Amino acid sequence: MSMHIPAADERRQNFINGKWVDPTTGAWDPCINPADTNEVIGHFPRSGKADATAAIDAATAAFPGWANTPAPERGRIIGRAHAILKGKVDLLGEALCREEGKTFNEGKGEIMKGLNLLEFYAGEGFRIHGKTLPSESRANLCFTLRRPVGPVALITPWNFPFAIPVWKTAPALISGCTAVIKPASLTPICTMLLVQAFEEAGLPPGVLNFVTGPGGAVGDTIVDDPRIKAISFTGSNSIGIRLYQRAAARGAKVTAEMGGKNPVVVLDDADLDLAVEGIIQGAYGSTGQRCTATSRVVVTPGIRAKLTEALVERVKKLVVGNGMKAGVNMGPAVDKSQLQTDLDAIAQAKKDGARLLVGGERLSGPEHERGFFCAPTIFDNVEQSHLLAKDEVFGPVLAIQAAKDPAHALELANDVPFGLAASIYTSNYFDAIKFVEHAEVGMLHVNQPTVGGEAQLPFGGIKGTGVGEKEMAEEGANFFTHLKTVWLDYTGAKRTSSIY
Ligand code: NAP
Repeated sequence: MSMHIPAADERRQNFINGKWVDPTTGAWDPCINPADTNEVIGHFPRSGKADATAAIDAATAAFPGWANTPAPERGRIIGRAHAILKGKVDLLGEALCREEGKTFNEGKGEIMKGLNLLEFYAGEGFRIHGKTLPSESRANLCFTLRRPVGPVALITPWNFPFAIPVWKTAPALISGCTAVIKPASLTPICTMLLVQAFEEAGLPPGVLNFVTGPGGAVGDTIVDDPRIKAISFTGSNSIGIRLYQRAAARGAKVTAEMGGKNPVVVLDDADLDLAVEGIIQGAYGSTGQRCTATSRVVVTPGIRAKLTEALVERVKKLVVGNGMKAGVNMGPAVDKSQLQTDLDAIAQAKKDGARLLVGGERLSGPEHERGFFCAPTIFDNVEQSHLLAKDEVFGPVLAIQAAKDPAHALELANDVPFGLAASIYTSNYFDAIKFVEHAEVGMLHVNQPTVGGEAQLPFGGIKGTGVGEKEMAEEGANFFTHLKTVWLDYTGAKRTSSIY
C-alpha cells in the first residue's frame, strides 16, 4: 500500500510476518486530531493477546536468519528505509502534527531527527565491535564480541511518535534482533509509516512486527512472553516501573526511560535574552510535552525580577492553535486526559500558594473550542514543598523558584526524584563547571535549553527517570546485544612455530 495519511473512514492493519493483517479482535479505534476533535485520521486495530502472540511467533521464527545476516547488509536495509523516508518529510511532518498536535515545523524537526538516527544506525552496521585484550595466560588470544539478544519488544509513548520508534527500531535491527513494536494508542500513524518504509526497503518477513492496541492486553502479553529477551520502553513512571518489575521476574533485560522535572538555573551574570529564549523554547516547545521540557526555572536574586518580567512578556506573544496553521507557535495537549492533568496541576499550584503570572486556563473561542488547548502558564513563588516543584506535569506549565545563591540553586535543582536534563545560564566558568559536575541528571546543557538530542550522543536519565542503558548512539545498540568474552588458547591448535 502507498505511504499516505489515512482518510477518516480508513481501517489500517497490524504488520505481522511481512503481511498487513486485521486484528483477531475485529475491533478498531479512531485516531483523533487533538487540535480538532472533529478530524478522524483513520482507524487502528484494538488488538488483543492473540495478535501480540502472533507477532512474537513471527519475530521468534525470523530471529536466526536475521541474526546471521551480515551486519553491513542489515545496515543497507536501514539505509534504504532512510532514503525512502527522506523523500517524505512533509508527509511525515503533517502526519505527526495531525496525530500528536505539534506544530508542522516541530513535526518536521522531529522527522529530521529520526532520519539522522536512521542514517547513523545504517552506518553502525560497519562498527559493531568488541575489544581485544591481553590475557594472564600465555598463548591466549582474548577478545569480546557482541551477539544479538533475541526477539525484543519496543514500547513507545505518544509524545515523539516518529523519533522514539526510530531510536528503538534502528538499533535493535542493526544489532541483529527481531522486534515487535507497539506504539502508543493515541499516535500509531508515524510508526505505521516507518514500518511501511522498512517493508519497502526489503526487510525480511517477521523481522519487524507492528501491533497497535491497549497497553494492558498487548503490552502485558509482550512483556510476559519468555521468548522476548529484552524490552525497550519509554513512557510514564507508573507503567515503566511496573513493566520493569514484571520483566525482572523472568530475567529479561529492560531499558525504561521515564519522566522528568527539568530545571533551568539562571544566575545573576547570565545573558538575559539568551536565557529567556532558551526557557521559552524548552518550556513551551511541543506544548511542554517533552521528557526534556523545561518545567522549572531556578533563579538567583539579582536577575529574578528582570527574567520573570521578560518571560511573561514572551509568553503573552505565543500563538496557540492548530499546528498546521502558519504562525502558530504552540499546539494542544495530546488528549482530554493530558489537558485535565495540566489543569489539575494549575489548580493545585494555586491551592499550594504559588502566584499565577500568566495563563492558567483552558483556551476557548472558535480557534480552540474543538481542541485540547491549555494556555501557556507561569507560576512564581513556587516553594519546594509544592507539588509543582516536584511532580511532572507534561504540559505548558512553568514554575519559577527563588534561589539564594548558586549553591542553593544547585540544591533546588537536584531536589526532585527525577534526573533527566538540566541547564544553567551563566557567564562564569566556575559556576558552570560546578553545575556540570554536580547536577544529578543524565544530560546537561550550558547556556542552552534543556531539550534536544543527537543520534551519535547517548540519551537518557538517572535517578527516577531511567533504568538500563542509555538510548541512541553506540550505547543504544549495545542494549540489544550480549557481550561475549572469549579465551582462545592457541597452544591447543596445531603448532606451526616453537616460539612459545
Ligand atoms: P505511558 O502511558 O506510560 O505509555 C507508554 C507506552 O506504554 C504506550 O505505548 C502505552 O500503551 C504502553 N503501555 C501502557 N500500559 C502498558 C502495560 N501494562 N504494559 C506495557 N505497555 C504498556 O506514557 P505516555 O503517556 O505515552 O508518555 C508520556 C510519558 O513518557 C511522560 O512521563 C514522559 O516524561 C515520558 N517520556 C520519557 C522519555 C525519556 O527519554 N525519558 C521520552 C519521551 C517520553 P497505550 O498507549 O495503549 O496506553
